[in-house]
Amino acid sequence: MKPPSKEENTKLDFIRQIVAEDIRTNKWDGRVVTRFPPEPNGYLHIGHAKSICLNFGIAAENKGGVCHLRFDDTNPIKEEQEYIDSIIEDVRWLGWDWGEHLYYASDYFEQMYEYAVQLINKGKAYVCDLTAEQTRAYRGTLTEPGKDSPYRSRSVEENLDLFERMKAGEFPDGSRTLRAKIDMSHPNLNMRDPVMYRILHAAHPRTGDKWCIYPMYDWAHGLEDYIERITHSICTLEFENHRPLYDWFLDQLEVYHPQQIEFARLNLTYTVMSKRKLLQLVQQGNVSGWDDPRMPTISGLRRRGYSPAAIWEFCRRIGVNKFNSTVDIALLEHCLREDLNRTSPRVMAVLRPLKVVIDNYPQGQVEELEAINNPEDSNAGTRKVPFSRELYIEREDFMEAPPKKFYRLAPGREVRLRYAYFVTCKDVIKDENGEVVELHCTYDPATRGGDAPDGRKVKSTLHWVSAGHALEAQVRLYDHLFTKENPDDTAEGEDFKSNLNPNSLELLSSCKVEPSLANAKPGSRYQFERLGYFCVDLDSSDGKLVFNRTVSLRDPWAKIQKAQKKK
Ligand code: ATP
Ligand code: MG
Repeated sequence: MKPPSKEENTKLDFIRQIVAEDIRTNKWDGRVVTRFPPEPNGYLHIGHAKSICLNFGIAAENKGGVCHLRFDDTNPIKEEQEYIDSIIEDVRWLGWDWGEHLYYASDYFEQMYEYAVQLINKGKAYVCDLTAEQTRAYRGTLTEPGKDSPYRSRSVEENLDLFERMKAGEFPDGSRTLRAKIDMSHPNLNMRDPVMYRILHAAHPRTGDKWCIYPMYDWAHGLEDYIERITHSICTLEFENHRPLYDWFLDQLEVYHPQQIEFARLNLTYTVMSKRKLLQLVQQGNVSGWDDPRMPTISGLRRRGYSPAAIWEFCRRIGVNKFNSTVDIALLEHCLREDLNRTSPRVMAVLRPLKVVIDNYPQGQVEELEAINNPEDSNAGTRKVPFSRELYIEREDFMEAPPKKFYRLAPGREVRLRYAYFVTCKDVIKDENGEVVELHCTYDPATRGGDAPDGRKVKSTLHWVSAGHALEAQVRLYDHLFTKENPDDTAEGEDFKSNLNPNSLELLSSCKVEPSLANAKPGSRYQFERLGYFCVDLDSSDGKLVFNRTVSLRDPWAKIQKAQKKK
């Protein structure tokens, strides 16, 4: 499978319109070069997928287009190789290819330093000795102008000397910064002499101890884009009021100047999306790791059973615009169901087993019944499912005293066993606590395959597995990780973790699945008939099957859509 191309993506969003117009006017000599620039300080999440599909998508849709994968590794304190590796794996898994264009901001540290020296020489940058706290105080507010730093008028020579000594490691962390000399009363606070470099004696995963000054985001990012000759530098809305600074730096240096374009970031209901918060959940053990199937990370979604195609479709449907909003997680799950419905083989599994004995079925007899692998895919073929005298059905498919609309099995009632026979419940066995532990039924041999020659009907069809052939499995059922649509909606003094859903994981340990799953490999996806979509977890091993419920069959989004159409 390949990510969708422009043909399928006919209505152009505002960014694709800009790109199309630039190609028409030959603005960038016909080039289209985008980049996805993650900071390797955590795992990628579904919000990043939006940015990935946008940047790689635009490059793929345009002739000769290229998208760079660039690690924005300018803060050694929070960045780790583990994150770099996971990001590479996740972007690949999503189906995108950067070819030879894998870059690291840290590879440009030398060039960035030289450009900073140029700015000093032009009188556009100075070394400042204010502490972080003083710098903040001098900055002013939205309503009040800032104050010039007392170090603002240092001579070029003194600045060059101090900056070089900052680089050489002569000064302790936080004692000095290099700042752009712009305007301390500028209405945009980002333009009030922003810090370009800070002193940080910290080893970097790639440059080791070579540097003890590190560039700040705004200074670094435009240079990275310029060095890589990016055409369209696409980022999220919170950078809109950083754009004047992005432009200022490149204008002062009089170099090639990409265009920054901002779009609204993805927010999802019942989900936190900031890496800082996700890291907290991992570190404090609220989840089993970055790839816990309840996490909105790409690795969590993958482990949960999401397909890349479901994520592409979701990103296509949400589109790209300039207004922040929150998307209903039901839409993501809807896209998932659509894809899994098309692609998942059907199997039978019983999550909460109730034993059924077919009294009139011959002892020791086993029949291999034909079952359809995927009614949505005529090429998927059929398989054999063993049927015998002792079976399991779902506990909730039987009621001793059924209420009005319960059409499944009950004493004296006849139902269909999928692909098998009609059976009638004759007797109910209970334990000393009065709990039903076994049903005795009879079957009608004439109904083999599931239809009665005399035309009689039954009101329900149940899934089942043969007791003697079933494999044991553990199944993990998931619910939203948070109980509130907006996890940040908390009482005074509480944080988002107070909204964690205590029932987000339910473990079922004695589930029974049909024997065709004996060799199911981690990552394989199935529909368990009538129950939902499930995928084999990484914890699964030979003889010890573990499944994650990816998503149930019931689709709340379809209902929401119907209701909207009626209006
Ligand atoms: P977070 O806020 O989750 O920590 P970030 O913006 O700090 O994320 P980066 O590693 O800097 O994470 O992000 C890489 C790219 O992904 C950036 O271009 C950023 O704008 C984009 N991005 C991050 N979060 C989202 C989101 N929720 N929706 C769309 N794009 C996003
Ligand atoms: Mg960031």
